[in-house]
Amino acid sequence: MELFDALITEVSRPVYEVTMFGVRFSWLFLLSAAIIAMLVYRSNAAAEIAQKPWSLKEALKATFPRKVFLHPSALLDYRYAIVNYVLQVAAFGALMLGVTQVAQGVIGLLTLLLGPMPAEAAAPGLAMSALFGLLILLALDGGLFFAHWLMHMVPVLWEFHKVHHSAEVLTPVTVLRMHPIDMIINSIVTSVLIGTVNGVFFYAYSGPVAELWLFGSNAAVFVFFFFGYHLRHSHVWVMFPKGIREFISSPALHLIHHSSDPKHFDRNFGRIFVFWDRLAKSLYMPREREELVFGIGGDEDGRFDSVYNLYVLPFLHAARHFRRASTDADAVVAPAGQVPEPAAQPADMPADLADAEAKSA
Ligand SMILES: [Zn+2]
Ligand SMILES: [Zn+2]
Repeated sequence: MELFDALITEVSRPVYEVTMFGVRFSWLFLLSAAIIAMLVYRSNAAAEIAQKPWSLKEALKATFPRKVFLHPSALLDYRYAIVNYVLQVAAFGALMLGVTQVAQGVIGLLTLLLGPMPAEAAAPGLAMSALFGLLILLALDGGLFFAHWLMHMVPVLWEFHKVHHSAEVLTPVTVLRMHPIDMIINSIVTSVLIGTVNGVFFYAYSGPVAELWLFGSNAAVFVFFFFGYHLRHSHVWVMFPKGIREFISSPALHLIHHSSDPKHFDRNFGRIFVFWDRLAKSLYMPREREELVFGIGGDEDGRFDSVYNLYVLPFLHAARHFRRASTDADAVVAPAGQVPEPAAQPADMPADLADAEAKSA
């Protein structure tokens, strides 16, 4: 019975989270995104709409268009999000690395190398708490950037990240269209970085250091969520004002990341800060609003048309990479005259390049 209760608690958690502050799908962040969308729709709309008086009905219609929220791709997002959450709780969640596990490992390692934690360490002051909060933020954002960059750059991993990019319309639920392998890799990279910062500070102060919190969330993350986080997956174009957009990633930068136009491929991997993309030379800062078509491009989107395909196709496609690699290896070791046939490829393009060409983000 206890197990049943625990399962019910876990499965109902997303509904419960909507009622909270600070978490990603809090009602507050969904509402703030809707309000921002309603305020900007006139600046995005055709001139004839912009000349009419502002109307709530029109603004609501522009913010929640049926052709986006009831598009087959969006309906698939909703089904996939539910199935994936249940599978995460029941199965693959156990494979996701936790921050606490890493922090405990780091504390253990430091204890081994430097001896036991000081019995009475000085309490961290405000400056040290702020530094801790900043390092946690950089670990989180840098970790998400690096994991995302890896998913695009390593051809086998791209097969799994394609699930996210196969969405043909974007709604806030599209952020949950992530293959379990994508989620596991994200959790490993971010937990190693955040867990290390936590472990080092815990060891130095013989206990947990308080971060600058706002309603249970890192204060900076809270502010980022509040100012249109959910518009990163939407049909609404929002760029932050000049002076901010150069440092903090505007929602429209992630719309560009989802574009199927080759000039937008492998651009704007960042979540909160823009400088990661600047460093990696992957920043695409639009000068003006651009008309975008979302998806992987070619005929690939259509293949990711069911919950089953979202899970299984990446494994089948990834297996092709391994088969191709082993065929190439055989070709290298085979004696002259017995070179195996290479896998079928476009005549003038190596397989990996062909994959890179097919990438949409
Ligand atoms: Zn996305
Ligand atoms: Zn991506």
